[in-house]
Amino acid sequence: MIPYGRQEILQADIDAVVEVLRSDFLTQGPMVPRFEKTVSDYCGVPHAIAVNSATSALHIACLALDLGPGDWLWTSPITFLASANCGLYCGAKVDFVDIDPRTYNLCPIALESKLQEAERTGRLPKIVVPVHLCGQPCDMPAIRGLATRYGFKIIEDASHAIGGRYLDRPIGNCEFSDITVFSFHPVKIVTSAEGGMALTRDPVLANRLARLRSHGMTRDPAEMTHAPDGPWYYQQIELGYNYRMTELQGALGCSQMQRLDTYVAGRHELARRYDELLAHLPLTLPWQHPDGYSGLHLYVVRLQLNHISRTHREIFEALRAAGIGVNLHYIPLHTQPYYERMGFKAGDYPQAEHYYSEAISLPMYSGLSQAQQDQVVAALSAALNV
Ligand SMILES: *Cc1c(COP(=O)(O)O)cnc(C)c1O
Repeated sequence: MIPYGRQEILQADIDAVVEVLRSDFLTQGPMVPRFEKTVSDYCGVPHAIAVNSATSALHIACLALDLGPGDWLWTSPITFLASANCGLYCGAKVDFVDIDPRTYNLCPIALESKLQEAERTGRLPKIVVPVHLCGQPCDMPAIRGLATRYGFKIIEDASHAIGGRYLDRPIGNCEFSDITVFSFHPVKIVTSAEGGMALTRDPVLANRLARLRSHGMTRDPAEMTHAPDGPWYYQQIELGYNYRMTELQGALGCSQMQRLDTYVAGRHELARRYDELLAHLPLTLPWQHPDGYSGLHLYVVRLQLNHISRTHREIFEALRAAGIGVNLHYIPLHTQPYYERMGFKAGDYPQAEHYYSEAISLPMYSGLSQAQQDQVVAALSAALNV
């Protein structure tokens, strides 16, 4: 089976991890800060807080922005569960904004009309989470403009987008957001096995994120309610978690970051080949906004079902049967049973549902050979009966 995504591990990665195993620190040593500095330097942002997953990063990002009961978090329905669940962890309520039919990202026009309505009913969001789907950046200046007007905070879910650029600035530099989150799950662009990171320009937020990552405790006398009892002393200031990343993960992440630009360039080369080889098929290929340089985590095609004699599901199954590990990113969140129980229903977000009825993610990862890519194209052509 050719998977839709997978990691590439080289000897340098293995050596970096083994070196940590032989060192004094398996956790809370020098490698995680080194990984943080590598990513923050890359993105041109002063603060980066590494955690054990992007899900954890989204959770503490919401907490650091004071999301709580009575508040609303809005995101796109076409994303992974974690982009919305982070709001629920904090006791807030979640709502969705339909997608742009060209980029499949949260649509700023739909966002604006939903904000106008929410202002009338007193249900404005405290946080909006734009997700850079497939690595393609959202229309951040438009979303930032609405944030200023309606007073919400922005967490970019850039789990798909490390190594991408927007208006020729690195995604993650937080020019248009309060916090940006990356994922280092093995299917993503670079990996630390499990892992995530929250980036910010704001030193106060950075401090809070670091504290929430580790039980809400501090060793800084300036943050304490009274002078330390002694050199052993620490205080718990708020309720935090153990969301720390291990040194093994930090070392793997550092090693992988050395190849980030090569990886993204390789993904662009694969996408260019797909664009060329699939152009004659009844498919809508990924459209790239000229302001962005996508991280290209995913290559999603949409079936032009009115030109195809088989169903979406039949084509998907035919590809899997041919050994092509296609996937579907994502099932609209509002149609998940857990969200349906909150009152969401099919029909609420027509663009998202239309996308879901046609989308297939083709294999896209560093290490996918041209021969394998040709195999994907042949299987897809056969499945489409052309
Ligand atoms: C992968 C992913 C996450 C969660 O990442 P983890 O590191 O697995 O917790 C969140 N949001 C999006 C859009 C993702 O693709």
